Amino acid sequence: MRILVTGAAGFIGSHYVRTLLTGGYPEHTDAHVTVLDALTYAGSTRNLPIGHPRLTFVKGDVRDRPLLDRVLPGHDAVVHMAAESHVDRSIAGPAEFVRTNVLGTQEVLDAALRAGVRTVVQVSTDEVYGTIESGSWTEHEPLLPNSPYSASKASADLFARAYWRTHGLDVRITRCANNYGPYQHVEKLIPLFVTNLLSGRPVPLYGDGLNRREWLHVDDHCRGIHLVLTRGRPGEVYNIGGGAEMSNRDMTEKLLELCGADWRMVRKVADRKGHDIRYSLDDGKIRTELGYEPRHSIDHGLREVVEWYRGNPAWWKPLQDR
Ligand code: NAD
Repeated sequence: MRILVTGAAGFIGSHYVRTLLTGGYPEHTDAHVTVLDALTYAGSTRNLPIGHPRLTFVKGDVRDRPLLDRVLPGHDAVVHMAAESHVDRSIAGPAEFVRTNVLGTQEVLDAALRAGVRTVVQVSTDEVYGTIESGSWTEHEPLLPNSPYSASKASADLFARAYWRTHGLDVRITRCANNYGPYQHVEKLIPLFVTNLLSGRPVPLYGDGLNRREWLHVDDHCRGIHLVLTRGRPGEVYNIGGGAEMSNRDMTEKLLELCGADWRMVRKVADRKGHDIRYSLDDGKIRTELGYEPRHSIDHGLREVVEWYRGNPAWWKPLQDR
């Protein structure tokens, strides 16, 4: 199997590729992987096993049509992860989110069609559903995104659906909860808090800290993506959840404890504009249809992640203050 993964020099894509190339998906121990990544501020070849005999790295933009037409032919599948992914950045400057997340996705879908790629997985997010005070979203929920980031991802999902309906392209969409794990950029909540605390710096907590998120280990997300790629159905959407739900305050408490700090290190800052109150996914479909089950408990996973950042300052120190 030849798989092209866009955006795999970033957090989730690099985990997926490292897992694929180290036999983490037993049915695909001989898969060949091509990574296509523009290496924005969020991506780095340091995250990938460059030089691995079954890995080809191509530096390039998903909006570069001639490049896509050179690179995509010969691949069985595309896992499309390239995106601008940080909500705060989308509030400050949404244009790049439209360019990469919407136009980039449309170009990838179109190129996949021209190249005869068998399957495309569009990696999306629970944030496209908006915010939910109680209960959980199934895949039938309407898309009601509230941030420019989630609006761009929702638009991309709609293009994916349209390419399936219009052209019969086998596209499958995954929508996952908030991820945590090693190699996550220090701009995101968990790595920001951990690296600040490990550097003796205070951490910024938005508003009252009562916004609730569902946290899933990146390894569980990637296994869900691979299940959808290998066993999912064309044109279908699969929520990937099963993480631990907690408020930002509770997450802060856990991270303070793991880093040996206390609430004196916390600074309350003005709330994020349009801050969604709560996300919650119903992941019954991927569990019953594809046998998905998360493996990582939040307490063990967080402890491992803190240890990873503690042991790898050379990876994250250059990213601080950039
Ligand atoms: P990330 O920001 O860590 O990585 C994004 C990667 O995309 C980077 O390597 C970057 O260089 C690359 N990229 C950006 N623009 C590009 C372009 N125009 N052309 C080619 N490459 C480009 O993001 P992540 O957290 O790994 O997220 C990966 C995907 O998963 C995204 O589509 C995101 O929306 C989705 N997702 C993320 C989460 C999460 O919690 N992080 C949850 C659900 C879904």
